[in-house]
Amino acid sequence: MPTRQHHLMQQLPVDLNHISLTEWDEFFAHLGFGSSSRRQVFEAVFHRHVSGVDEIPDLTDSERGSLAGVAVIRRSSLHELARSADGSFRLTLALHDGHMAETVIIPEWVDGKLRKCSASISSQIGCFFGCSFCATGRMGFHRNLTTGELLEQVRQAEQVIRQELDTDLTHLYFMGMGEPMHNYRAISDALTIMRDEAAPGPPPARITVSTVGLFRQIRMLALDHPEVRLAVSIHSADQQKRYEIMPVSSRLGLPDIRDALVFHQRQTGNPPTIQYLVMEGVNDRPDDVRQLIGYLGNLRANITLIMYNDVPEAGLKRTGDDRIHALRSVLEEAGFPVDIRWCYGEDISAGCGQLKVCSNKERVSVSMRHGLKADEPR
Ligand code: SF4
Repeated sequence: MPTRQHHLMQQLPVDLNHISLTEWDEFFAHLGFGSSSRRQVFEAVFHRHVSGVDEIPDLTDSERGSLAGVAVIRRSSLHELARSADGSFRLTLALHDGHMAETVIIPEWVDGKLRKCSASISSQIGCFFGCSFCATGRMGFHRNLTTGELLEQVRQAEQVIRQELDTDLTHLYFMGMGEPMHNYRAISDALTIMRDEAAPGPPPARITVSTVGLFRQIRMLALDHPEVRLAVSIHSADQQKRYEIMPVSSRLGLPDIRDALVFHQRQTGNPPTIQYLVMEGVNDRPDDVRQLIGYLGNLRANITLIMYNDVPEAGLKRTGDDRIHALRSVLEEAGFPVDIRWCYGEDISAGCGQLKVCSNKERVSVSMRHGLKADEPR
């Protein structure tokens, strides 16, 4: 039976930007590198973002020679930077295999001062889950992003934020294209690397991982990264309606998700964020959010009401501001802190649910699929 170590060495050259941390350890153990040389390579690849083995400092000639014969570092490059009239940005990274990954940057000003500057990074090319309101789901699933590609998005976002806004990335969200928890190993490795202050990214407590409710991974995140925040998209506390909005929810029962949320809260001490995309005539009645209140019960949670990004061909409609404020009042009266995520980046197709790129390097216009029409009986 071949070992994993042999398996990796059979696929030379090994791309140091595209292997897991487990493979990393196996690879350098096989090469016979000591801990300090391993650390040199690790810092060069993940902290200083070098593009070739010859750029790694402080290796002996023999180490550099043996590494150069078996390893490469394939990098992504910035393909496009789109600016929205509202101040947000959409970055498109060209990956080494021709796929594209999108990152959205949202600066938030209060009274003329930049209060927060967040980046939302993609975790997959396309998505397996096909949520009714989401353009990414229409692409189908192509592949997971690697840990290196996740960190490249963070690094590129930091550079753009510094160049364009002269400030730092304050908050990071695993919330772009793809379901982050479906790519848990790479996400977890990236979170491990970002614990180091020299690595890209904000401190762990300002990092949030979003999910449609993959409850096993919610428990894993609580154990592996208790300091990292969790956001779960519920969108409806009615199982049938949730299934129509998010077909994957047939395998992700609301009771199982709630059990995982309770576990996460006990383990980490942090309240999860419950994300609720508000769609007119679908889930925007006061009774709909009362059902959510009943579902959450005594769970401590922050709720984010997300404004739906209106796309004419989608057949779904944005709920008016007044109604969203009314829903907020119902939730607040029940004791839940509520944020409203207003629209950002619609003019550059960077809004929630709008990210969609083709593998042939052409961006396509966004149109959202929908499984539930606004005028269908509920
Ligand atoms: S909302 Fe998230 S999980 Fe659903 S299809 Fe879009 S990217 Fe996938």
